[in-house]
Amino acid sequence: MTNPLNRRLFLSASLGTAAAATLAACGGGGGDEPEVAEVDTADFPEGSTMAALAEAGAITIGTKFDQPLFGQAGPDGTPVGFDVEIGKIVAGALGISPDNITWTETVSANREPFIENGQVDLVVATYTINDTRKEVIDFAGPYYVAGQALMVLIDNEDITGEDSLAGKKVASVEGSTPAQYILDNHPDAELQTFDTYSNCVTALINGQVDVVTTDNVILAGFVAADEENLKLVGDGETFTEEPYGIGLAKGDDDFRTFINDTLEAAYEDGAWAEAWEATAGTVLPTPEPPAVDRY
Ligand code: GLU
Repeated sequence: MTNPLNRRLFLSASLGTAAAATLAACGGGGGDEPEVAEVDTADFPEGSTMAALAEAGAITIGTKFDQPLFGQAGPDGTPVGFDVEIGKIVAGALGISPDNITWTETVSANREPFIENGQVDLVVATYTINDTRKEVIDFAGPYYVAGQALMVLIDNEDITGEDSLAGKKVASVEGSTPAQYILDNHPDAELQTFDTYSNCVTALINGQVDVVTTDNVILAGFVAADEENLKLVGDGETFTEEPYGIGLAKGDDDFRTFINDTLEAAYEDGAWAEAWEATAGTVLPTPEPPAVDRY
């Protein structure tokens, strides 16, 4: 619904714990927006994060602001992309319309701290689920699985795969899994880290580095935006698995279960596919949604 006051009326008495799966037909601000559930805070366990967020009618979500297809600030500063749509789906299941989401830019290195210190309620930001990160935060999902790849200037012929990185200047982002992979597996490459992927791309265009590495789908977004200058190595061949999760506070198991339920409901009712097709799917093929991991 478009009127934020209506959202607060909590018209539905008892959607019960299946609230995530029973989204009311109440599109948030136009045909393309994910549905916003009519929820009652009593639908959620007392004292839960879901009850608090539904009561507040607002949520703060961290995402990328410079990554085409997944999270990129639009003309008015509001980010657009698949991660943004996933964030809207979760907010919608809490009865929060897109207008009441505060989007905070998170770069790769500050995602865990922003969750730990409560600056954001969630992070949806091409965020790979892994055990190191799980030491300090938790993940719902995955809702997509990417893989690490390489991107070079269009006329580059000598970088043909990860085996040709020795002695090359390789750009990636501080605090990212691809940067760690290069450190661990290609010590003979010259890794240069930047704060964001758009800064890696600028360094590549300027000739400051030879290659940019990160997830294939992030690189595909940059290539689609500048096909005259950029290309993927080996048709975007990948050499890692990067399952994208939704980061949340460690130990908030009820909230994690709720988000996993919400993702599964979105797989079922087509909202996930719709979100993909409207964003990353304009460039990339539509995959099967991955099974969520309720660890
Ligand atoms: N998915 C990888 C990560 O979480 C790379 C993309 C990113 O840095 O956001 O580190």
